[in-house]
Amino acid sequence: MFDKILIANRGEIALRILRAAKELGIATVAVHSTADADAMHVRLADESVCIGPPSARESYLNIPSIIAACEITGADAVHPGYGFLSENARFADVLAHHNIGFIGPKADHIRVMGDKIEAKRTAKRLGIPCVPGSEGGVEDADEAKRVAAEIGYPVLVKAASGGGGRGMKVARTEADLEQAIGMARSEAKAAFGDDAVYLEKYLEKPRHIEVQVLGDGRGGAVHLAERDCSLQRRHQKVWEEGGSPALNAEMRAEIGGICASAMQELGYLGAGTVEFLYEDGRFYFIEMNTRIQVEHPVTEMITGIDLVIEQIRVAAGSPLSVAQEDIRVEGHAIECRINAEHPATFRPSPGLITYYHPPGGLGVRVDSAAFQGYRIPPNYDSLIGKLIVHGRTRNECLMRLRRALDEFVVDGVDTTLPLFRTLVRNADVQNGLYDIHWLEGFLAQGGFDA
Ligand code: ADP
Repeated sequence: MFDKILIANRGEIALRILRAAKELGIATVAVHSTADADAMHVRLADESVCIGPPSARESYLNIPSIIAACEITGADAVHPGYGFLSENARFADVLAHHNIGFIGPKADHIRVMGDKIEAKRTAKRLGIPCVPGSEGGVEDADEAKRVAAEIGYPVLVKAASGGGGRGMKVARTEADLEQAIGMARSEAKAAFGDDAVYLEKYLEKPRHIEVQVLGDGRGGAVHLAERDCSLQRRHQKVWEEGGSPALNAEMRAEIGGICASAMQELGYLGAGTVEFLYEDGRFYFIEMNTRIQVEHPVTEMITGIDLVIEQIRVAAGSPLSVAQEDIRVEGHAIECRINAEHPATFRPSPGLITYYHPPGGLGVRVDSAAFQGYRIPPNYDSLIGKLIVHGRTRNECLMRLRRALDEFVVDGVDTTLPLFRTLVRNADVQNGLYDIHWLEGFLAQGGFDA
């Protein structure tokens, strides 16, 4: 097992990793930018190292500084969290070169899944159902038109290196297609330095359902059921729940089994998420994330398994602590992403938290690095915490979420809490009747008035 883990991240996920390390009796090192000198992850870690100025590029993304911090502190492994360097295969290679463990998948698997064209090819080979689309990238408008005519309009032009919903354009007719390709290419070039694009059938009203997997890197792999992340705004998840209101136990076992077998064949190491769109009873693979995800607590609440502890165990060469037959889904969990943003305009609202009171009680979990007197810096994403609630049934979970949201007080900055208080009372949400476009439609119709 590792002796000392350096956490190459900030905010709530840095705290989350710190907790797992402490429970395993492993020492922790926090790294931070000058903007985060007072942050909670710095206060709670055994040691801390300042790795640069506020700009992420010069601090949390700065590989030489992070390697230097490992050498100074004698850390023998790095946990990258999510975002930042978590899906950077070169970072994993550099750590290996310095004999430092990377708490994440093999560099080759990060590389394959980081390129969406390669990822889809691999998924198909492993027997995972995919969205109909181009075999690989599309070179020019003529090829795109041929493919689109085959799969039928509307089609979605997607960037091979896409992420965060960028580099994606819908074309409803052949006349739209040329422009959609041009726009997707230039957006992808600007954001990712790579203008390769491919085509997919555009699904009109799918749900987003994803399967959590864990692998030991030697052909052992399990699935831990699904999360439904259909409530999205601008392709960003807002509310996540497990299990999906759209699936029953047989459907869960079937898609989970497909993902677990695929990971066994791949020899996948660590935690991962296989993401699907789900429409009319069918699953369509869209991508795989080779890291711990923001919404992982949903799975922890319904299975009782600590995913970060499992990540650390397998990265150190230990076997998974659970077999598939030991993993049971108990009850229902919902996560709300609490952002420091105006709840109607979603304008970021950094600044001083003048009063902070998180909810508590049975089945209520708050993963947050916020506290009264904390000043949210303007340099990073606006997630300040996650409220995760568990109940024996979805109904109990919704009632508990409603009262937990009503207890939660964050003063001094705008937060998305009022939006969730409205959503939890909405009939469609309560009945689980939503697809990936539902929230945008609800907001556009003025369903929420802050
Ligand atoms: P990113 O890596 O940018 O998040 P994804 O491929 O995961 O890109 O897609 C993000 C979101 O975009 C999905 O959750 C879904 O809302 C939408 N999307 C992606 N592919 C399709 C498709 N073929 N049809 C309809 N919507 C899609």
